[in-house]
Amino acid sequence: MMREDGPETVAIASGQVPVCWRRSARARRISMRIDARSGHVVLTLPPRARREDALALLRSHSAWVAANLARIPKAPRWHDGGQVLIDGRPHAIRHCPDARRGVWIEGDVVHVSGEAAFLVRRLTTFLREEARLRLGTGLTALARQAGLRPTRLSIRDTRSRWGSCTADGAIMLCWRLVMAPPEVQHYVMAHELAHLRHMNHGPDFWVLVDRLTPHRRTAEAWLRREGATLLRDMQE
Ligand SMILES: [Zn+2]
Repeated sequence: MMREDGPETVAIASGQVPVCWRRSARARRISMRIDARSGHVVLTLPPRARREDALALLRSHSAWVAANLARIPKAPRWHDGGQVLIDGRPHAIRHCPDARRGVWIEGDVVHVSGEAAFLVRRLTTFLREEARLRLGTGLTALARQAGLRPTRLSIRDTRSRWGSCTADGAIMLCWRLVMAPPEVQHYVMAHELAHLRHMNHGPDFWVLVDRLTPHRRTAEAWLRREGATLLRDMQE
């Protein structure tokens, strides 16, 4: 059983840090980690542990916390006049409060209607749907060309992985891939499709990946460089 509270700002020697408190029935001791997606410090406490002890743990690791928070890339900011990546290309975000068309793309501009407070949520919903369409089409085409048959495709929001493939042939892709360039999307789809034949990362697996896509090296480099930013929670 797990209980979670929203972030609370705590002052430590290195500055103000956002902290999320968790109670876990299974935890044996107080633990601390940095959640790269939200940019929060997560303190997990066993049922009867005291908050004071967790705060002491946090304060005694002030430098470690500061260094790790500084390493996290900035979260993309989605607001009127800002930008969003679609297929790796920057699109301007234009808020149209009075429009009644939901969210739509015209050239390099994404228009978002409705209240400003819901802009991030509406744009997220729109991109998830775009991901379903674009990645669905791409995966079907690549699978057919390769003579491979995934049993199912699901588009999800994953914390750390761009895709996965189960033993029964179901492929999962992260919706955030729709923000990456087409070559990166192609590589991740080829990677997961190759797992239908090889459920490992052995030499035969990589031979098949390279047969399915020419983009492995550039895609891996791009994901190393930009991936962490795309995995962050979007902010206004
Ligand atoms: Zn893999």
